[in-house]
Amino acid sequence: MLIIWGSKRKELELGWVADLCLACGRPTAHRLREVRSVSHLYYISLGNGSLAGYEIVCRECGRVGAAETDDYADFGDEPDEDLGALVERTNPELPRRIVAREDLARRIADGSASPEDRLHALTETLFAFAAELEERGKETHFDLRAGLWLLGVFVAPFAVGVAAQALFAGGSPVPSYLALGSIGVCVVMLVVALATEGSRYARKKLIPQMLPRLRELKPTLEELEEVLGRFKKGGLALGKKLKPLDVFEALAGSSCQNAP
Ligand SMILES: [Zn+2]
Repeated sequence: MLIIWGSKRKELELGWVADLCLACGRPTAHRLREVRSVSHLYYISLGNGSLAGYEIVCRECGRVGAAETDDYADFGDEPDEDLGALVERTNPELPRRIVAREDLARRIADGSASPEDRLHALTETLFAFAAELEERGKETHFDLRAGLWLLGVFVAPFAVGVAAQALFAGGSPVPSYLALGSIGVCVVMLVVALATEGSRYARKKLIPQMLPRLRELKPTLEELEEVLGRFKKGGLALGKKLKPLDVFEALAGSSCQNAP
């Protein structure tokens, strides 16, 4: 008998907080939620599970970020509450943090920021995109490439078999071997396509979202390698899937396009 048992993610809404969205580049209202990992048997939850962490979701762009409840003084119930009032109530330290960030941005722009300051700013910017990839990694995603190889698993043996029958004499086992072989090739390519889907997503979807923030920072290839290398060592999917050179080249390409 097949027993379906495992754990699933359960989210509990805690309320609304104000925080700086690094993707939007300004303070916005964020939904704060508790994430629990709950055991299930045949998809029926067993108990309340264990606490997996907290996350915030930007109301404007939907970006998910890691959070700590200690970061906030209180939670609001209303997303439409005036943002200034929400900042004052839930995140009174935010204006001070924003001033510090703006000061750092100025020093980065005029070249007076220290190497440590630059790495800190780059780490913060890239980390804002880490949670999304972690979340995606928990599920299998079929992109066009994986979908085509999956289709190939079904279509290729017929196409190859028919073509081979035209070439080999009747009764020859070769067409059957070739048809079976084509299934094997498509399955291997499907596994490869699924394993590399996260990297393609990071390159095609995340890099364009990062560019506006990264343009202000103009990181060197070495700085990107340093920060993404640390992420990789820490086991973050972003460090494993995102290639520093891809980011660097996209950045160089985009600043050329924007040049007058
Ligand atoms: Zn946002």
